[in-house]
Amino acid sequence: MRRLPIYFLIDISESMIGEPIQHVEEGMANIIKALKSDPYAIETVWVSVLVFAGQARTIVPLQEIADFYPPRFPIGGGTSLSKGLGHLMYELRSNVIKTTHEQKGDWKPIIFLLTDGVPTDDTRSAIQEWKQNWQKSTNLVVISFGQETDLSLLTELTEHVLMFNNSSTEQYTAFFKWVTDSIKTSSVSVDNSTSGFELAKLDDQVISKIDLSKKDSPQEYIDPNFVVLAAKCQNTKRPYLMKYRKVLNDSPFSDLGLQTVAYKLNGAFQVDNSYYELSDQSVNAFKINSEELIGAPTCPSCGNQYGLAICSCGKIHCIGEEEYSTCPWCNTKAQYGTGGGGFDINRTQG
Ligand SMILES: [Zn+2]
Ligand SMILES: [Zn+2]
Repeated sequence: MRRLPIYFLIDISESMIGEPIQHVEEGMANIIKALKSDPYAIETVWVSVLVFAGQARTIVPLQEIADFYPPRFPIGGGTSLSKGLGHLMYELRSNVIKTTHEQKGDWKPIIFLLTDGVPTDDTRSAIQEWKQNWQKSTNLVVISFGQETDLSLLTELTEHVLMFNNSSTEQYTAFFKWVTDSIKTSSVSVDNSTSGFELAKLDDQVISKIDLSKKDSPQEYIDPNFVVLAAKCQNTKRPYLMKYRKVLNDSPFSDLGLQTVAYKLNGAFQVDNSYYELSDQSVNAFKINSEELIGAPTCPSCGNQYGLAICSCGKIHCIGEEEYSTCPWCNTKAQYGTGGGGFDINRTQG
């Protein structure tokens, strides 16, 4: 039986933390569950899950659906699309069986690339390599989560660039059903020896095709829509992330139609140590002024009431009732007060 390889390449950058990554986790589990009960899919479809942030990694190697166990998704720093693509090409080179005189190889692999961010690195050479070696021999579907992706770049990879409106749980459910249906229809059509690639019908409210004619290329290496701060718990030493989402406020001089940008707390989330392995450690620190941030969380690891204390070393940790706090990054002991005025805080790339 010829295999139909399906690859998921999923952005796990910091801005995905919280609800988006939970939805992706559940969505993947539902896709697999549905495919396991589909006679065509179970015969032909093989699935692999790759993730990328500052680094890329395989979390599920290419395997039959029957053996597939839904993974937990880690989170990393940065959105290195070039490392994600590079890793995908490596996996395709290593796993896809080519047709020869002796054997019938795999069907054209189908790749679903899900991303919500602006790439934080230079993608030109990876895109070049993709176009040269893989564009024709695969079917790549790029899905942008929300409005905030760098679309012009993604349209270079494939003609299938879709926008997913990820604003509610129902839409996530509908989206993953659409992915499942697309895999099912494709597995049926390879069985009938036709094209082997058929996306299911789109519901425009949930997922829509992107207008490829609008092109502009911002050269930004930081995601402007979120601010994510990386911190460590003073008590447990475990890392956590605080996520802020951009809001526009009318300024006091709103007669002039002025708006100011601020970032409002979206939540604080524990991550495990794989966060450091999946982050790009070489990147420069970006700064955000504390006056642009609205809200501070409690520590999601130990419950300390203030999760956003800054040590003289520049790193962030939680503080509680204690008189003297010890920085979990540099071990400096210090007494903390509440500072007046704004100060600069290191942010991640998002
Ligand atoms: Zn803590
Ligand atoms: Zn410190």
